[in-house]
Amino acid sequence: MSTREKSEVFFFPYDEGRAFLGGLRTLFSKVADVLSAGDSVAVKVHMGEYGGSAYLQPPIVRRVCDLIKKAGGKPFVTDTTTLYPFGRFTASQYLATAARNGFTQESVGAPVVIADGEQGYDGEWVAVPRQVSDCSLNKIKIASRIFGTDCMVVLTHLKGHELASFGGSIKNVAMGCVTKESKAAQHRANRAMIDISRCNGCGQCVDACAFGALSLVEEKMVLDDEKCMDCSHCLYVCPEDVYSVPPGAKERFQVYLAHAAAGVLSRFQSKVAFINFIQDVVPMCDCVTPSGFPVVPDIGILASTDVVAVDKASLDLIAQSRPLGKFADIRSPDILGKINGTDSLVQIRTAHELGLGNMAYELERQKT
Ligand code: SF4
Ligand code: SF4
Repeated sequence: MSTREKSEVFFFPYDEGRAFLGGLRTLFSKVADVLSAGDSVAVKVHMGEYGGSAYLQPPIVRRVCDLIKKAGGKPFVTDTTTLYPFGRFTASQYLATAARNGFTQESVGAPVVIADGEQGYDGEWVAVPRQVSDCSLNKIKIASRIFGTDCMVVLTHLKGHELASFGGSIKNVAMGCVTKESKAAQHRANRAMIDISRCNGCGQCVDACAFGALSLVEEKMVLDDEKCMDCSHCLYVCPEDVYSVPPGAKERFQVYLAHAAAGVLSRFQSKVAFINFIQDVVPMCDCVTPSGFPVVPDIGILASTDVVAVDKASLDLIAQSRPLGKFADIRSPDILGKINGTDSLVQIRTAHELGLGNMAYELERQKT
């Protein structure tokens, strides 16, 4: 977290044909001060859903692990289980999916660890230091293996997100470093509206709910509020549009994301760095399969110790790009926000208000 008027964001562009791995080494050297020799280092990364292609590839993660080891750190590659019941719902399922996607100890040169335990509830509660914008999130449960580490390097594949507008470092920290309870607490901000008159009693949502929160009574779906974990899975499986996202929910969700990030980052203070990869920028998150068409050409890599500045710089670089293919008519700025029907700056402004970093930054172009 920076106290400077403008934060430094280091940028390695892909447009000049220079060596990618050399660029990554240069960027890492700019933020390597966050770790000390002997530190355990959580390398936070989304290892992709099985069937998707637009996630950070294992050789990139390997490169970062090698650089951490060279700097004297002890890296492990980590993420947490999901709220929704696909291929990463438990730690065992996640490790199997990770291996299919190419993430193993052999491939990345470090242990691969699911940080919130087998079922996704292992963690430590910390206070969210303060609240703005009527957010009620005042505590967050950090996944235990992330809580217990000395230092964190957050590697983020920058992309769109159907609820948050985009997924950058703020979201990677907020949703990706916490247990299921705290994922649910953030998603509660966008609990679906229900129009039960549309329900035909097909039962698909009942079968899909991993938490037993839905049942059929007289051929109509009934929701048990107490059991619902707000994973949104029913929203996507219902063929009759019974569930819908309420007005303002996407903006509220972003406010909650920023507060969750504040809670997680309070654990690390200055011992955390963020590296955003602006490549394979698809409209929705790494959980969605298939991944979809790229929105803009590949841009490059950004590194900073300021989570706000690195995400703001990422959006600004995307705004300077020409959208591709079916996205060609979308006008800049906030291309990902327009695709996903919200304002991407909500999470950035809120994170700034919470003191997580600066929206103003110096972009420092790097050569290998
Ligand atoms: S009711 Fe819907 S949102 Fe709630 S846990 Fe079940 S599938 Fe998820
Ligand atoms: S999936 Fe939709 S239509 Fe089918 S039972 Fe659930 S709410 Fe009703």
